[in-house]
Parts: sequence; structure tokens; C-alpha cells
Amino acid sequence: MSAVISLKNRLSLTYAVFIGLTLLALTLIINRFTDAMFAALIRENIGERSAEIVRTIGGLYDPGIGEFDQTSLESIGMHFVHEGYIVTVKDAGDNIVWDARSCDMQQCVMVMDTIAGRMEDQYRLKGALQIQSYPVSYLGGAAGTIDIETYGPFFYSETESRFLSSLNRLLFGAGLAITLLSVAVSIFLASSVARPIVRTAGAARSIARAHSGGIYGEIPAVRIGENYKTKELNELARSLNDLAMELEEGERRQKQLSSDIAHELRTPLACLQGNIEAMIDGVWEPTAERLESCHEEILRLARLVEDLNLLTSLEWENIVLEKKEFDIAKLLRLLSGQFLPAAREKGIALVLDLESCRVTADYNRMKQVFINLFSNAVKYTRAGSITLSCRPLDAGRPPPHTGTCEVSFADTGAGIDAADLPRIFERFYRSDKSRNRQSGGAGIGLAIAAAIVKAHGGEISAESGNGGGSVFRVVI
Ligand code: ADP
Repeated sequence: MSAVISLKNRLSLTYAVFIGLTLLALTLIINRFTDAMFAALIRENIGERSAEIVRTIGGLYDPGIGEFDQTSLESIGMHFVHEGYIVTVKDAGDNIVWDARSCDMQQCVMVMDTIAGRMEDQYRLKGALQIQSYPVSYLGGAAGTIDIETYGPFFYSETESRFLSSLNRLLFGAGLAITLLSVAVSIFLASSVARPIVRTAGAARSIARAHSGGIYGEIPAVRIGENYKTKELNELARSLNDLAMELEEGERRQKQLSSDIAHELRTPLACLQGNIEAMIDGVWEPTAERLESCHEEILRLARLVEDLNLLTSLEWENIVLEKKEFDIAKLLRLLSGQFLPAAREKGIALVLDLESCRVTADYNRMKQVFINLFSNAVKYTRAGSITLSCRPLDAGRPPPHTGTCEVSFADTGAGIDAADLPRIFERFYRSDKSRNRQSGGAGIGLAIAAAIVKAHGGEISAESGNGGGSVFRVVI
């Protein structure tokens, strides 16, 4: 497994390596460039100095006697030797008039050895002695020639060498200072990038800690500030805040569910307890009627448990749909036959507008959806009619096909308040609690229908003009 390092260290390292490599390349380029420039300048200087030597020695020629001034030649010539120029002066007949080696051989060898040693040791330049001849002339004609011997292709004097070393030292020092500075800047930049991420991670941990207490106690609403200067970090904070809100909502629903279940169980249990205790104490006779009422409560409890079980399996388990092809119109016609007596009893007319519509779905589960919608329509309609319709949505496709079908249950009942509409598919949600207890509903039927439709990838929706009936629509 590769080592895990902190974001700050990784960024610092990346910046430092990048800046270090850039500086190294820059230093090398500058070094090469200054060396080359300096060498070119020195070559030029050597040429100019040689010309100056020729001019100075040429000035020692006396055309009157046709000779060079010997005394001056010696003192000036030895001065040039110290600078690294070994001079030989010849007359017009090519006879040596004065030469530095004959004058002080030891001095000439010492100077040249020092220069060669400096150039080889410090600059790895292995050169050789080079001789350049210059003619000396006066107005009347040629006075002779001057040979100048130097270390070539070029050489640095002691002063120049010292200057070059200090320049290189300066460059190295500046490079080192910039490197140290850039490492400091890298660490600063890396921590300024990493800090908000570390802060966000800390806040995410606080959210997790706040929710780790489960459903017990009040959950503190921990939020992360969305005021970073980086867009992506603000998006990250926003997503974490959304997640926190969803967790809170989930926990709120879980608590609500527990209290709803307790509430639903309390009433039938209290009724049963009261009846049975009264019968045991001999207050009431255990008549058939009373026992029947107890039985009804037990059935209601059994139905509730069964519905909850079904809903849990639909919402939490990956239910396997046993899909087969069938005609929805046929199924609805069958159901309308079953609901007809109940509707008739309440004086409600059943209107059927059914087009044949084949779908591939789980027959029994879809039947459950339509039963729930149908029983609600009958339950919440006092008088008037229930119109049941179904039509294929992709009628244009050539047969044989199984496609999309829209089913609707439109009743002329009391309708649903606009405020209740978005929540009626939630578990235990009832728009009118008292009315429902009388009619026996626990508020689970629509949640079951919605879960089944969702498992099929379909849609379920409700519309209602308050007081003007409701329409439930299923697209499957
Ligand atoms: P219940 O068992 O209470 O009927 P449902 O989940 O089936 O539970 O319905 C939830 C709530 O939606 C009902 O309590 C009722 O207030 C409202 N509702 C459902 N169907 C209709 C309808 N056809 N007309 C008016 N209100 C309805």
C-alpha cells in the first residue's frame, strides 16, 4: 500500500520540487550565459591590450637613430610579463632587439605557469601558448616586429578571476536564498489550499458525530459555512449541508414513524383492553356482539402490521417483481365488479372508460395499487360518481407491443387540500385524522401504492380542486 501523506505535505512537496527544478534550470542557464559572455569580453580585452602593447613599444622606436630605447624596453617589457604578455621585439632586419625570456627567463616561466594552473584548475581550460606578430612602422617605413606570446585561447588575470568567483558566489547565494524563500512560500500556499479542506473535513466529522447518536435526543443542526473563496469548496460545503439536512429529515421521519405506529396501535389496544377487562371483571357480558367488536379491532391491528411489513419490504428490500404481460383494462374491469356493491350501497355511479392497454408488470402488485386507489375513491366519496379510465400512451407503436399505460381514478368526493396534496403519499399521512379513524384508514395505502409504482419505474400523482373531487393518476 502506498504511503498516505497529508494534502498540505503533498502540495508543499509538489510546489517545492517544481520551483526547485525551475530555479536549477534557470541558474544553469544564467551560469552558462554569464560564463560565455565573460569569456567573449576577455578575448576582446586581450586583443585590445595587445594593440596597446604594440602602440607603447612602437613609441620607443627612435627613427633618428633607427633603434628602440633599450632601457625603457626592459622596464616596460617586464611590466607586460607580469600581466601575462611575453614580448619579443625585432628590428627591420628580423634581429632580436629585446626579448623578455632572455631578460628574466625565471619570471616568464613562473607567470605563464601560474596562468596555466589557474585556467586548468578553476576553469578546466587546457590551453597552450600562442604567439601573435605585429609589425611596427613609422612615417619613414618599417621599424620592426613585435611578437606577443600569451596563454590561449584566452586567460583570466587574477583580478578578473577574482571577479568571476565572486559573481558565481553571488549567483549561488541568490539561488539558495530564492530556494529557501520558495520553500517557505510553498508551505504557505499549500497550507492556504489545504486549510479549508481540512476545516470542511472536520465539519463533516462533526455532522457525522451529531448523527451518530441515532434517533435518540435532539440532533444539533451542524452546518458548514459556505463562504470560502474557492467555488469548488463552496460547492463541497453546500453538498455536505444538503446531506446534513437530508439526514436530519430522515431522522425526523424515523421519529415520526415510531410515534405514528405507537399512535395507531394505542387506540385498538386500549379498546381491546377495556372490553376484555370489563368482560373478565363481569361488568359486561361476553356477548357475540362485543366479541365481534374485539375481533374487528384485532383484524385492524393485523392489517396494520401486514401493511407496514409490505411497505418496509417495498421500501427497504430490493423486491423482485414478478413481471408478466397483461391487459390493464381487463384488471380494472375485474376490480370494478368487486367494488360495485360498495359503490352502489353509497349511491355512487361507476363510469368506465377503458381502452385495452397491455403492459409488462407485476400483476398482483399492480392489482394492490388499483385496489388501494379504488377503495380510497369509494371511501372518500359520499355521492356522485367515480370515473375509471385507462389508455395506452404509446398507441402509435405497431403490435405486438407492451408499452406505457395511463390509469386514472377521478371521483366527486370531498377532494384534498392543496397543502395536503404533496404529502398524501407519505406513510401515515392523513388529511383529516378524525374522518379517517372513522373510516378505518391508517394512512398507509397511498404510500404502498407509490412504492409499488416506483419499483416499476412508473409515476403516481394526485390532483384535486378542493371540494371538487380528486384525480389519482398512475403511469406504468
Ligand atoms: P387511508 O388509509 O387513510 O385512506 P391512504 O394512504 O390511502 O390512507 O390515504 C392517505 C390520505 O389521503 C387519506 O387519509 C385521505 O385524507 C387522502 N385521500 C386519499 N384518497 C383520497 C380521495 N380519493 N379523496 C380524498 N382524499 C383522499
